[in-house]
Amino acid sequence: MSNFKTGIDFAKEQDENDTLSCYRNQFHIPKDKQGNDMIYLCGNSLGLQPKATKDYINQELEDWANLGVEGHTHAKNPWLGYHEFLTDSMAKVVGAKPIEVVVMNTLTANLHFMMVSFYKPTIERYKIIIEADAFPSDKYAVESQLRHHGYDDKEGLLLWKAREGEELLRYEDLEAILKEHGDDVALVMIGGVNYYTGQFFDLKRITELGHKHGCMVGFDCAHGAGNVELNLHDSGADFAVWCTYKYLNSGPGSLGGCFVHERHAHNKRLNRFTGWWSHNKETRFKMRDEFDAIPGAEGWQLSNPPILSMAAIKASLDIFEEIGMKKLNEKSRALTAYFEFLLKQVGDDSIRIITPENPDERGCQLSIQVKNADRSLHDKLTDAGVISDWREPDVIRCAPIPLYNSYQDVYHMVERLKNILE
Ligand SMILES: *Cc1c(COP(=O)(O)O)cnc(C)c1O
Repeated sequence: MSNFKTGIDFAKEQDENDTLSCYRNQFHIPKDKQGNDMIYLCGNSLGLQPKATKDYINQELEDWANLGVEGHTHAKNPWLGYHEFLTDSMAKVVGAKPIEVVVMNTLTANLHFMMVSFYKPTIERYKIIIEADAFPSDKYAVESQLRHHGYDDKEGLLLWKAREGEELLRYEDLEAILKEHGDDVALVMIGGVNYYTGQFFDLKRITELGHKHGCMVGFDCAHGAGNVELNLHDSGADFAVWCTYKYLNSGPGSLGGCFVHERHAHNKRLNRFTGWWSHNKETRFKMRDEFDAIPGAEGWQLSNPPILSMAAIKASLDIFEEIGMKKLNEKSRALTAYFEFLLKQVGDDSIRIITPENPDERGCQLSIQVKNADRSLHDKLTDAGVISDWREPDVIRCAPIPLYNSYQDVYHMVERLKNILE
């Protein structure tokens, strides 16, 4: 799609022809002091609230008020199995089978629980490969796992780094690390879409590489879930974790998602941390039985989960279910390509997009590096009504979200950026 045009008329025309434009009205768009819609390009950090969310949560509040403990079985959406209402839609969002997916805990907690099962270090094979610029929480989590098992967290961590003068990671370099150190590596743990550059990795390729060298492979898909077509099942990854408050619009600090590949679904010897929610549903309330894990990802749950948070996730997933990732992805690609086109027209050599140009290697986020910029650029954008995300030292991350952002949002963002740069 390179028949883009520069003027506002083109943006308006695209919005009129956009079959998903009606969904914007299903979200609360933050307003400026004059009551105008802000240009919200920060759904990669915190997704906007669906207008329906309040009703979904109120339903559970009402059932709790009216039924008390009976709500577990008699609520309109009985709480006992509430997480099951989310599984099918979530599985579609991440390209997995229902048995491979569960909504539980939060992202970093799930990462640890997955490492209990899939990071099984031995004296010969204990190292972990991550991206050099992995999200800090991921780095802290894997370092603490190394220490927990009695290994040095510097020696035990192998970093997949960008080459000098580059931002994006090359598969040859991961291959080289594995060729040299593969026999020492227990786990390859990569962010499916890098939070900083927006680079969407080939999960299948990384998984095959890791497996070839006898490593377990897991992904943090915080920036992938609801943004790109992850195809987790086909990737063959052993596990994946993600949050639902970014592209999945479920509200601050909401629950995370977890994927365990089908091949591990019935492996009861796989060690794990357990609780009553990982136990066979038939006998859970007999409270006496020996532990009997539920097959699949559900068998990694620990506690009875927070229903109010799950209600917010359901409100959002129902929208994804209605549209489908394929259609969302089509708009996402077009909208981001348009954004890229306009940024290139700025004709100012102070800005550079570090996100891959290939649409298969990115989601909707573009990371824009601005020469000699500091945080004041971000503040000026905010004053101009554009909510973006600033990452030190010099990058603005902007994510036009196909569910609620318009071509006109993108147009106005670039106009305002141009004004500020002049
Ligand atoms: C957002 C994000 C997190 C946040 O972790 P929480 O446990 O949800 O606070 C972790 N890792 C990545 C890659 C993220 O993008």
